[in-house]
Amino acid sequence: MDKNKLTRNILLGLLFGALLGLILPYFSQDVFNWLNQYLLDPAGTVFLRLIMMVVVPLVFFSLVVGISDLGSPKQLGRMGIQTVIFFLATSAISLTIGIIAAQIVQPGSPGLLGDGIAEDYEVADSVPIMDTLVNIIPNNPIESMANMEMLQIISFAIFVGLAMAMLGKKVETVKVFFVQANDIMMKIVTFVMAFAPIGAFALIASALGEAGWEAVGSLLSYFLTVTGVLIFHGFIVYGLIVYFLGKMSPVKFFKGFAPAMTMAFSLSSSNAVLPLSMKSAQENLGVSKQVSGFVQPLGATINMDGTGIMQAVATVFIAQVYGVDLTITQMLIIVLTATLASIGTAGVPGVGMIMLAMVLTSVGLPPDAIGLIIGIDRLLDMMRTAVNITGDAVLAVIVDRNEKRRGEISA
Ligand code: ASP
Repeated sequence: MDKNKLTRNILLGLLFGALLGLILPYFSQDVFNWLNQYLLDPAGTVFLRLIMMVVVPLVFFSLVVGISDLGSPKQLGRMGIQTVIFFLATSAISLTIGIIAAQIVQPGSPGLLGDGIAEDYEVADSVPIMDTLVNIIPNNPIESMANMEMLQIISFAIFVGLAMAMLGKKVETVKVFFVQANDIMMKIVTFVMAFAPIGAFALIASALGEAGWEAVGSLLSYFLTVTGVLIFHGFIVYGLIVYFLGKMSPVKFFKGFAPAMTMAFSLSSSNAVLPLSMKSAQENLGVSKQVSGFVQPLGATINMDGTGIMQAVATVFIAQVYGVDLTITQMLIIVLTATLASIGTAGVPGVGMIMLAMVLTSVGLPPDAIGLIIGIDRLLDMMRTAVNITGDAVLAVIVDRNEKRRGEISA
């Protein structure tokens, strides 16, 4: 796969799709419906399904292979600790930047959106964090796979991989099977990606056609604050981290990872883009399969800096609209709950918005205030998903470098 050509084609798909999406609302209702029903929806859905089709087997096979290749449980422990510390640290950084930016810009003011603010939004019950942690161990791994429960799939894969590593030569045949199954999944990803520009075109056209820029109007300041912080974090903060901790030129990093970032933008789902982010990290950034297979699926599931940024800015924005002054303690609570919320946020479209309810409740704001901003969330979801998966790739580069330096993985 020529990465430059693929990025260019996806970008072209996004551009033409965005243009079509912007003029769609001006078509007659019949044409609009016809285009949606027979062209955009089917193309977008087929693409999403193609890609979803490989996510579970790819994550499972690659994780098993990656872990069974690790030298020892010690190495797994070391990589696990690095991963969790990095994810928590970058989440805290992104949330803090989000809160500070929203305090400076002050995107919301009392009465900005009129009095009857809460719209028809159903508040979902947030899952208690203890349940999220306990449920990491699946009751039934097959059921978890069927339901695409990523944390559970990951934990089962860790057990299988560890057992295989310990049994060594005795299970060689099974190991060969997993390695080859993983290669087959990666090959399928290559086929699917050939369709990516069309998928990107269809997905963005229908997203823009439905949301439209008009919705952005009254919320422009909120929209721009989230966007600004996402760009700052995605390029500057990650660029510096990859340079200083990963010893990689940010230009090389962003060029190599661009296909995954552009795809994340149109898919709005960390899980769905996972096959391509792993492929980009392995082939373009030189990250070993073991590290990429461990760090990226885990990151796509629990590390969501972009989502945290949206939640931080949104909470401060909503507080401003309600005329509530947040105290320093409340800001710390936002950082804490949003970090926990990101662990429980699945890498699928729109979930970050649902988890926002938990963050709002933690500082005494009404969760149904989400109705205020949900209209433009589709557009912000695209951008934050690109940031979410970039954080995972940055860590993959760093862990890979550390392991190669220790001689645990051959360069
Ligand atoms: N769409 C995001 C992701 O998949 C999650 C969210 O913020 O809604 O990474």
